[in-house]
Amino acid sequence: MGKNKGLVLLHTGNGKGKSTAAFGQALRAAGQGLKVCIVQFIKAQSQTGEGKAFQALADRVEFHVKGSGFTWQQKDKEALVRVAREAFAFAREKIMSGAFDMVVLDELTYLVKYGMVSEEDVLDLIRCRPPGLHLVITGRDAGAKLIEAADLVSEVRLIKHPYDAGIMAQKGIEY
Ligand code: ATP
Ligand code: MG
Repeated sequence: MGKNKGLVLLHTGNGKGKSTAAFGQALRAAGQGLKVCIVQFIKAQSQTGEGKAFQALADRVEFHVKGSGFTWQQKDKEALVRVAREAFAFAREKIMSGAFDMVVLDELTYLVKYGMVSEEDVLDLIRCRPPGLHLVITGRDAGAKLIEAADLVSEVRLIKHPYDAGIMAQKGIEY
């Protein structure tokens, strides 16, 4: 680290490909010897393809799922908020540790959208991070201030999704 400028890369929009773009970015960085930490804020299907694949790169990529039994229907809102805030604090520690060149915050925008973490907390994290650290953030409905703070913003636009044709999530495609 040192001479590189850490960037904030934001992948948002309603189309499919935000998280997979972030994993691709992580893969590219790991290939170049960068140390990467990935934190997923929404619990995906257990044993996702990405989780398994990054195990093979464990010397360069840490992969953490920090989302509890996260469903929006869950009644216990307080427990959801607590888990989300703990997950955010965990990610913050990883970022501030200085041990990583890139940190991926997958689905972070939902924590802000649902008021579990304030936008200001996210902006503060961006400002306070080690200067050489790249942050990759994904999720729909990114707020205006986050978009302004990011160096790169890509919107994935939905044109078609197999779900609309009744095709359910498949191994190797969705998880
Ligand atoms: P991926 O993880 O495949 O890159 P994503 O991160 O862009 O997708 P999210 O918004 O995080 O997508 O949604 C997570 C899941 O919802 C993915 O499995 C994705 O295939 C599915 N999904 C994304 N867009 C749609 C859609 N328009 N209709 C139905 N399902 C969708
Ligand atoms: Mg995603």
